[in-house]
Amino acid sequence: MKFPAQLRTICPHCRVHTTQKLSVVKKRERGTLSGGQRRYLSVVSGYRGFPRPKVTPVKQTKKVDMRLKCPQCKKMHVKTRTFRVKKFELKR
Ligand SMILES: [Zn+2]
Repeated sequence: MKFPAQLRTICPHCRVHTTQKLSVVKKRERGTLSGGQRRYLSVVSGYRGFPRPKVTPVKQTKKVDMRLKCPQCKKMHVKTRTFRVKKFELKR
């Protein structure tokens, strides 16, 4: 679906409606320094196999992770009410 790249919504920091730029968060690699990730890597590295049963996904689509940036205070916040779509595109 096509979605507008700019939205006029409220900024939680200024508490004023402003036209904010919208961006989609890309998937990044997991950091290896956190405790859980170090534990996971140590388990996977040996002969012990996978630490937990692999979950097969039931849902076919994922929710879009969107951030809004306020031009006044230059702060970002998460757009909480999002939706599930297969294809997502920002309208220019
Ligand atoms: Zn603001």
